[in-house]
Amino acid sequence: MPYYGHRLSFGTLLDPVTDPPERAVELARLSESLGYDLVMLRDEPHRPDLLDAWTALTWIAGQTERVWLGAMVQRLHRRLPAVIGRQLASLDLLSSGRAEFAFGPVESLNEVEALDEAIDIVRAILDVAELGTVTIDGRHFPVMGAQRGPLPQHTIPVWLSGSALPVLELAGRTADGWIGTAAELPLANAVIDSAATASGREPSEISRIVTVQAGDPLLPLVIEHGAGIILLDSNDPAVIERFAREAIPALRVAVDEARADLPAVVPAKPARMRAKRREGIAYDAIPITLQAHAVEPGDAAYARLRSNYLRGGSPGLILRPGTPEEVAEAIAFAREHRELPFSVRSRGHGISGRSTNDGGLIVDLRLMNKVEILDETTRRIRVQPGARWMDVAAAIEPYGWALSSGDYGGVGVGGLATAGGVGWLVREHGLTIDHMRKAQIVLADGSILETSETERPDLFWAIRGAGANMGIVTSFDFEVDPIGQVGWAQLVLDATDIAGFLQAWGSWIDNAPRDTTSFMIMGQQRSARQMYAHVLTVIDSDDPETIVSRLQPLADVARVLQQRISIETYADVMANASDHYHQGQGDPAVRSGLLNQITPEFAEAASRMIQGGGSYFFQIRSMGGAVADVPPEATAFVNRSAKFSVVAFGPSRSRLNAYWNEMTPLFDGLYLSFETDTSPERLLDAFPQPALSKLQRLKEHYDPTNLFRDNFNVLTGVRSEELGVR
Ligand SMILES: Cc1cc2nc3c(=O)[nH]c(=O)nc-3n(C[C@H](O)[C@H](O)[C@H](O)COP(=O)(O)OP(=O)(O)OC[C@H]3O[C@@H](n4cnc5c(N)ncnc54)[C@H](O)[C@@H]3O)c2cc1C
Repeated sequence: MPYYGHRLSFGTLLDPVTDPPERAVELARLSESLGYDLVMLRDEPHRPDLLDAWTALTWIAGQTERVWLGAMVQRLHRRLPAVIGRQLASLDLLSSGRAEFAFGPVESLNEVEALDEAIDIVRAILDVAELGTVTIDGRHFPVMGAQRGPLPQHTIPVWLSGSALPVLELAGRTADGWIGTAAELPLANAVIDSAATASGREPSEISRIVTVQAGDPLLPLVIEHGAGIILLDSNDPAVIERFAREAIPALRVAVDEARADLPAVVPAKPARMRAKRREGIAYDAIPITLQAHAVEPGDAAYARLRSNYLRGGSPGLILRPGTPEEVAEAIAFAREHRELPFSVRSRGHGISGRSTNDGGLIVDLRLMNKVEILDETTRRIRVQPGARWMDVAAAIEPYGWALSSGDYGGVGVGGLATAGGVGWLVREHGLTIDHMRKAQIVLADGSILETSETERPDLFWAIRGAGANMGIVTSFDFEVDPIGQVGWAQLVLDATDIAGFLQAWGSWIDNAPRDTTSFMIMGQQRSARQMYAHVLTVIDSDDPETIVSRLQPLADVARVLQQRISIETYADVMANASDHYHQGQGDPAVRSGLLNQITPEFAEAASRMIQGGGSYFFQIRSMGGAVADVPPEATAFVNRSAKFSVVAFGPSRSRLNAYWNEMTPLFDGLYLSFETDTSPERLLDAFPQPALSKLQRLKEHYDPTNLFRDNFNVLTGVRSEELGVR
């Protein structure tokens, strides 16, 4: 009595007839509306009375929302497997991860050999985590340098059909599923199971899909022969409807009764995926609640999640909780793997925070991305860490509100709101953390706590500037500002005299009213004769005259080479990131310093660095204003007197540091979000005493085993030995 543990699902197997051509779409939509899980089309290129299944599926994907969509590819020799791979991946992307497929039956040994080759090719095309193109010197389908991808949305299983012995053996050796008729199933199971076992696989890796006609007895297929998916082979809407309304509910009840006393069975991951697992991770012990969204190196989604925006990584497991309770479970799993690298990720723009690693665990919070309005009169909102700042801006813009965050809409709430938040409105409205009124955090021991000025105020103090050391923040309550449209100026200025320009720009913004915040960026110097600076400025006003009056003095700072000035909502200014997944590589070299003034000495040193190629991206952000209204001891973001935040990205650590070290004495602390130097001395730059000692005390209390250590770990080299933690 085999039971492979697959969830019982139902589908329809349709002929995509040409007469009328919309029939397949209608039947697919009917199937979806009746609750079927899968619609499978026969792909028979030799039949003029059928539509091309792939084209029809694309059309159907656009008119359905939930149902999986598959093609049953017949006549393999008329198809190119590399093309099937790309069609599948494209359909999967367009349908948000709903593509499935099966190879139709073959008979001769020669055809089975071709099928084996075709499977390898399709899998290689879908395996975007591997580098390079696909070359397979096959006898039937030689492939030379075929492009992988596009990267599908989910791991697409390969199903085979047919009852010939070699096909069944092949299914046992390599397939993810087998499709056959009710009559074929018992014998097929026996062959598939023994072939699977003989090649080191678990029989439960292969799901059993049975095609049935209305009226076939169903219960034995499921209970005695382990069928996981039942496919009704019919193009008749009345039959499809009756089966959904009568046969399926009755079968579910009968199966539940028959299995009531059986232990739960979880199907095994395919051996080829298990082969990619990393040492030391108890994959089979992942809590059930986290399994559905967990991603490991063999999964298709791995390529989307392995790296962050700037860094490459190859973690062993990515857990994606959806609730604070699931975060607690993920943390418990991380505690059990304390010796492995551990990273926390909201939306993966960490620079100081690594948010990826090699061989370890990641808790990725992107599924927790809600933005809620709590109270319109007090302008309170609640935001989860996996939201991006452009999502927050868009959600509150209809209320005439905005919350100063950063300059890039793709940055995550979690990373920025636990560190500071130096954004487009910082001089007028302060740091993002200054708007925080409450937070929910999950600690290393799994407890879920609320914290605010009145509830555990010390923890609340620490979260606002050093949150990554304390736990995983699962929601933030903010009080936001009434902000209408703003002036948005994007200028390119002549900065050939780099030092002179920096001082003039610094003096302009230092003397500008608080409603004006400006960020200045210089790239690599391409020619000794010319240097440009991008000056991006937001003026918190929708009055054209005010905007012009704020910008006018810039004309005296340097020659304006290009300008674009508009009046837009803050949400429009922030809508500047794409949805593309992160493909960071390597490990960036970035340094941060805070300045009270752009002195001639600093300007000269910065000029030497840029001219000498020490930095390819050099940015100064104006701060000051409202940042300094908050006392330094009020939050763990202590360096509040600074008027400028300086950031330099270098081509290499040594090249950048050679110039940066010259400037170090001129800085008054740093903003940790832009610092990649992990030496213990940097801790005091970020958290001048008594803040560091206070953080260390709180760390001992809230995270005594130093589980959270991927971002400005306050125990680094300071008291970790004393505490006996690594
Ligand atoms: C293109 C770009 C533009 C930026 N612009 C600005 C800017 O204008 N202003 C500014 O202030 N900063 C800016 N930053 C820095 C940014 O704020 C930080 O890198 C921030 O950590 C990114 O947040 P994230 O959630 O996307 O990052 P992640 O990589 O997901 O997280 C970074 C680190 O934050 C910690 N962390 C993340 N989520 C949580 C959580 N829920 N609870 C506790 N700790 C958590 C972890 O230690 C993690 O390693 C920018 C960064 C980039 C790459």
